[in-house]
Formats: sequence, C-alpha cells, structure tokens
Amino acid sequence: MDAVKACSLDPSPFARRFAEAAQAGGFRAEPFAEVGGVTLAGYTKRTAGRRPRVYLSSGIHGDEPAAPLALLALMEAGFFDDRATWFACPLLNPTGFVLRTRENSEGIDLNRDYLDLRTPEIAGHVNWLRRQPSFDAVFCLHEDWETQGFYLYELNASPLPSLADTMIAAAGRHLPIEDAGIIRPDADPLLRETWPEAVYLRAKHCQLNYTLETPSVRPAEQRIAALVDGLMAGLTRFFTEWALRPPAPPMHPLSQPEQSSRQR
Ligand SMILES: [Zn+2]
Repeated sequence: MDAVKACSLDPSPFARRFAEAAQAGGFRAEPFAEVGGVTLAGYTKRTAGRRPRVYLSSGIHGDEPAAPLALLALMEAGFFDDRATWFACPLLNPTGFVLRTRENSEGIDLNRDYLDLRTPEIAGHVNWLRRQPSFDAVFCLHEDWETQGFYLYELNASPLPSLADTMIAAAGRHLPIEDAGIIRPDADPLLRETWPEAVYLRAKHCQLNYTLETPSVRPAEQRIAALVDGLMAGLTRFFTEWALRPPAPPMHPLSQPEQSSRQR
C-alpha cells in the first residue's frame, strides 16, 4: 500500500476505500459531518443475539496515519465478524491529514474538544455518539512522536479483567514496548479541564477503555502490524472474558460535564 510506504494518509481516497470495505463487510454508514470535502461517518454493524458492543476509533490526529490504516486493514480482512455488534469511526480529522498535523486546519486539537464541542468534527461525532447505546469495550488508536516504543492507556471500571498485558504481548512482536507500557491514570479523568475522546467515552458510554499508542519513529509497517495484532489479541481475549460474565448494567453518565470538569 503506497500510503503505508510513504507513512502518510490522503483522507479522501482513504475515506472512500474504508466506506467500500465497510459496506462489503455488512456495515452501515452514518455520516455526521462534512469537513474539507470529506464526509465523516460512523459505521455500525449490528449482530443478532447476545453480543458485546465494541467501539473503535482512529484518525483524530492528522500526523498518526498508522491508526486509521490499521482499522482499514482489519476491515478489509473481515475481522469485524458476528462476534460483536461493532461501531467504528475511522477518520475524525481529515484536514489534519492533508496538512499532516496533529490539529485540524483551524489549529485545534480535536482530542481536547469533547467537552466544549467547538469544532464541527467533534460536535458531529458527539451528536452521533449520543444516538448510540453503551459500549462494552472501547479502543482508540493513536501514535506518539515522542516515544520509542508501544504503550497503552487503560481506564477499566468494568468487572472484566484487564486486556492490557494481552495487547502489549501481541504488539511487542512488532515493536519495542515502553518501560511504562501500561498507563492507568490515577487522577479522576473526568476532572480534566479538557476532554479527550477516551474520557468522554468513559463518562458516557463505556467502563472498559483502551488507548493504544505506537511510536511514529518506527517503520509504518511495524506500527500498523502492532495495532492490528494488539487489537486482534485484545478483542479475542475480551470475547472470551465477556462470555464468562453477564453484561455490565446499562451505563449511566458518571457526572455532568459542566459540573465535573469545571470544579478545578
Ligand atoms: Zn493521537
């Protein structure tokens, strides 16, 4: 794939290719914003019967191409089968990918906008999320220019065991692992002044949240492989654990954003 070799991502052809693969895989596209000539969409695939609900996202930072390319690879490989009801938002920052910047073309870090909702990208995304049910597991894919190895963040208030070691072991077949490979924030994330996507999801949708990070200094092929294998291993373990335990009770918002974040 040319985009992989060049370690870049052209948002328009990516969006088209993802949409085609998703449609072939039985997903339904729900457009929620139009930015820079690119349609932002949430993709859902509902599976009959008792299934966990899994949400995945990528492409919120325009200098992190391996993340959406990993989701595309999994989509094209047919990984998103009938083991779950799936929700995916693969490309949230198209103008950032054009400029190859973390921020969008307005200079705003979209992953700090989940409280204020000042951008059309995130206002649309949250509007879409509000129409979705609670999720049983959430995976947000990212990259990091400042590290040499793979790591992940875990926010786990669920009764399920951690998937972190499983994902680290799988990613470690492709990339070195940071010394602090598993980060479990001590401070209440809901008290942050600005909300990343993961904190919004923790507050409103899901008790089991992972943010995966690959080091941008490594070759793109390794980063994509680490995300793909990390996700596959984590989800395979998740399905096993989920089947052994009753589903968590319906998610209730932990607090109102206006109250929780502006206390400090
Ligand atoms: Zn990022």
